[in-house]
Amino acid sequence: MLNRYSFLLLACAISITPLSHAQPAHESAKVEAAAINSFINDLAAKNGIYMSIRRIEFFSDLAKGQQPFATVVTCSDSRVQTNMFSRAPEGQLFMIRNIGNQLTTAEGSVEYGVHHLHSPVLMFVGHSRCGAIAAVSGNYSKESEAIRRELDTINISSNLNNMDGVHANVHNQVSAAMIKFGEEMRKGELVVIGAVMDFADDMHSGAGKLHIINVNGESDRKKLENVKALLSEKRLRLR
Ligand SMILES: [Zn+2]
Repeated sequence: MLNRYSFLLLACAISITPLSHAQPAHESAKVEAAAINSFINDLAAKNGIYMSIRRIEFFSDLAKGQQPFATVVTCSDSRVQTNMFSRAPEGQLFMIRNIGNQLTTAEGSVEYGVHHLHSPVLMFVGHSRCGAIAAVSGNYSKESEAIRRELDTINISSNLNNMDGVHANVHNQVSAAMIKFGEEMRKGELVVIGAVMDFADDMHSGAGKLHIINVNGESDRKKLENVKALLSEKRLRLR
């Protein structure tokens, strides 16, 4: 079982080197029945493997209820998945996903994780080459109303390259969460983390690296190297 600090220390390495990259648009294709059939068969096969490698006690523990260590808000991007930073997310990570890994467009879900499930960590995970950030950096007026509504709440400067925009957005999400959950933070019940999953190695520290870029509003690279010390210092300041 992870304790409060070992989770934070799991992936603490910071390196920030921006690179501009826009998301290519994809043409929609006609659905092929064979492909869907194969997809469903594959789901069943993979699920069968999953069922067979877990012991029955694992599922009976899950059935008892959940007490997740972290509420995690990631972008919906298919290239970002929990297996990139957790070997056993079941019961540990209360997962929320939306375009641009935002608090605003999933506020009820985030509140549920923090207020009802009492997860001690709230983490926002942005990622390299984010389509939502690319859209907000350009002109998205031709998108549908529903999509525009979810992009309107991403507040970053339009002149940023993609990775700088991703960082700015993650910092914004942490700031917004610190306002919303200030009481929990002051009581020492909640730590808010901002992270970036860099599968494209745009930050030049290895493809697939999870970078912790913000903890409770602190983004200084040196201070983030010692999260335990940072949290003691921050907690004193929050009081
Ligand atoms: Zn994204």
